Amino acid sequence: MSALLPTFARSDLAFERGEGVSLYTDTGERYLDFGAGVAVSSLGHGHPHLVATLREQAGKLLHTSNLYRIPAQEAVAERLCADSFADMAFFCNSGAEAVEGAVKIARRYQNYVGKPERYRVITFEGAFHGRTIAMIAAGNQEKHLAGFGQKVDGFDQVPLGDVEAVKAAIGPETAAILIEPIQGEGGVRSATWPFLRELRAIADENELVLIFDEVQTGLGRTGKLFAYEWAGVEPDIMALAKGLGGGFPIGAILTTERVGIAMSAGSHGTTFGGNPMAMAAATAVLDIILANGFLDEVGRKALLLKQKLAEIADTNRDIIGEVRGEGLLIGLQCKIPNTQLADAFQKQHLLTVAAGDNVVRLLPPLIVSEAEINEACEKINSACASLRASPQTEGSA
Ligand code: PLP
Repeated sequence: MSALLPTFARSDLAFERGEGVSLYTDTGERYLDFGAGVAVSSLGHGHPHLVATLREQAGKLLHTSNLYRIPAQEAVAERLCADSFADMAFFCNSGAEAVEGAVKIARRYQNYVGKPERYRVITFEGAFHGRTIAMIAAGNQEKHLAGFGQKVDGFDQVPLGDVEAVKAAIGPETAAILIEPIQGEGGVRSATWPFLRELRAIADENELVLIFDEVQTGLGRTGKLFAYEWAGVEPDIMALAKGLGGGFPIGAILTTERVGIAMSAGSHGTTFGGNPMAMAAATAVLDIILANGFLDEVGRKALLLKQKLAEIADTNRDIIGEVRGEGLLIGLQCKIPNTQLADAFQKQHLLTVAAGDNVVRLLPPLIVSEAEINEACEKINSACASLRASPQTEGSA
């Protein structure tokens, strides 16, 4: 028996090193990484600037705690605020912590403006906000809630895209609306930009806090620094994680001053969050992603990949349906079980990630090259051909 708690259905693969978009197993086999550790390794593996920055920081100082000033934390906060709607940032260690912290800030804001009765948060079907006790209630998925006792109170879920349902769910205790601009784990399902604009208007009319969970869509993944930019509306609070550290664990909550002012010393905290190592990682990631032309390149390569995938879907209609998503957050809706397609890709040494709604996600590092996109598409074609040749596909389409 393994000494690990059996919470993951892991592939029998172990990687020893990585370089760019390639991962190498302990037996030296190369895999093309179009999963990026679930949208985390935004700069790929072994990026020279990220590695050098972390090496240098590790030699100087790993950790001090938030009992003292951390100049790099102040600098990363300033950079994130300068390039977003936000005025203030709080750093933590993961996505779930960031979203849960965002909910705390929204509740605290309502208390600050004299409405302490407002604590409930409207969320959307298919959402995923993490695995803490509160965030499984926010996501409201039976498979995540099962066996963990009574669901935490304070979340009201409505269908994605249903404006009337949102309005109907608002009551005297409603504090906030929480949404992923594009559901990642839910199957690359876009909230749609008009719907996000509707939510902004509803939040304003009802004095609710609008929270965007950009843990998966943030930091260039959709071709813009933040996905909300596509919609042309801004949230009051945003949760970030994944790509911000490029592989180093980080979470962040960004907020406007109007809302963030409700927090005070001792109202929230963390031991590790925003420590010098994490901030060195974020600094290096931002150096690259914010460099002139980088996001334009992401957009150009994303378009190329999407065009190629549309062609592949066209010639493999028995296996792949819709190709959806924005930027380098792409979902292939499957006509066979998604795990079967992801397994077939893995046999071709292409790593992808399954998602809800029978989707396989393609989330390559943002530094993926045209040659690597072509290589991935060849592997996808080969995987489809191998599936068609195998009797398993028959009848499942
Ligand atoms: N929110 C979104 C949109 C996510 O995609 C995820 C993870 O996939 C989370 C929150 C939770 O992040 P973490 O696993 O870092 O807690």
